[in-house]
Amino acid sequence: MYHIKKLPERQKDPETCCASVKIGNKYINPWPSATRREASKNSIPVGKLFDFLKTSITTPDRNQKLKVDVDLKAINDFHEDDKNVALQLTWLGHAAFLLQINTFTILFDPFLSKRASPINVAGPYRCRDRGFKSFSELPPIDFVILSHNHYDHLDKWTIQEIFKEEKNKKTNIFCPLDLKKWFVGLGIPEDQVHECDWWDDNEITRIPESVDMSNETQLNEALISSSNRKITICTVPCQHFSARSLFDRDQTLWAGWVIKSQDVKYYFAGDTGYRSLPDECPEEEIDNYPYCPVFKQIGNIHGPFDIASIPVGPIIPPHMMSPVHTTARDAVDIHIDCKSKHSVAMHWGTVENLGTDDIEMAPIMLHEALKKKNISQDDFSEVYIGQIIKIEKKN
Ligand SMILES: [Zn+2]
Repeated sequence: MYHIKKLPERQKDPETCCASVKIGNKYINPWPSATRREASKNSIPVGKLFDFLKTSITTPDRNQKLKVDVDLKAINDFHEDDKNVALQLTWLGHAAFLLQINTFTILFDPFLSKRASPINVAGPYRCRDRGFKSFSELPPIDFVILSHNHYDHLDKWTIQEIFKEEKNKKTNIFCPLDLKKWFVGLGIPEDQVHECDWWDDNEITRIPESVDMSNETQLNEALISSSNRKITICTVPCQHFSARSLFDRDQTLWAGWVIKSQDVKYYFAGDTGYRSLPDECPEEEIDNYPYCPVFKQIGNIHGPFDIASIPVGPIIPPHMMSPVHTTARDAVDIHIDCKSKHSVAMHWGTVENLGTDDIEMAPIMLHEALKKKNISQDDFSEVYIGQIIKIEKKN
């Protein structure tokens, strides 16, 4: 049983803790770094566009180089065996991560079916396997956390598959503002869906089923004795947009997330841009364009992070992608701004046709960007699908 306590609201300030902004029924990115820049005449070559349309329907196998090997035993044994491990993080491809922390199992942005599209015959598709057959093979999922409602992050098929499993009937959802109704529409009980604004902090304690929540003394005693089963889920800003159809653009919020325990801090950056650029921007002019200030704010308020998941791409064509996605250079800047000790690349290698990029390129570009900033590949790495990262407890 979970006890969820919303912590006092933070004082908002554009320079240090910027509030979300909704104009009419649409949210906006309140920073110059999101301003759309000029397109060049050839921003999407005709040949690339033809390939894009063709492969979006025929779904060929792609990116066989990316290994898939999910260690189900290590995931299922985690809570019993790893008393010295503060956190275990497993990449499941694209933006999907399984986080195990302080007895909690948390799934981020689970797009774990085939198509990221409103129709199942065309659109971006998952070209690498997720590495397990059924949710019966995984531990019970305590929380599913969503960054926003795009099809490659919020997947109806996967959400239904999770809730079909008897052990996941009590799974709780954390999502950005105005997305609750989507989950309730799927039949998920309203009290299991928690809508959050940027900078909301929720403290969650796992307490025994036998505790009578209405008895204040009993509840307080349980909260004190369960303090090693406590985490804080914090919602933070990112630079993106939302839409599931032609008619609902930006009507629900987008967000990143921070998860903290007494031992460790994890940052999931979500789907985000960093710096909007025109097509064909020369390298030496990039710094003339403004960058998104929220990552420094997140680092100052919640950092430093023991581990962070940061997206790399897709980025072509730049005038369309740079306001909402990150180049490898941007990803490295986010790693620095948010004060991450170790980052893992996400949003690459798994989903074909989100842009016109080659989805195998992200690690190569990341290594180049790290070299330019004199940062070791050990500090910001790519992983295979199923690779587990563990953070030891500090003594
Ligand atoms: Zn998105």
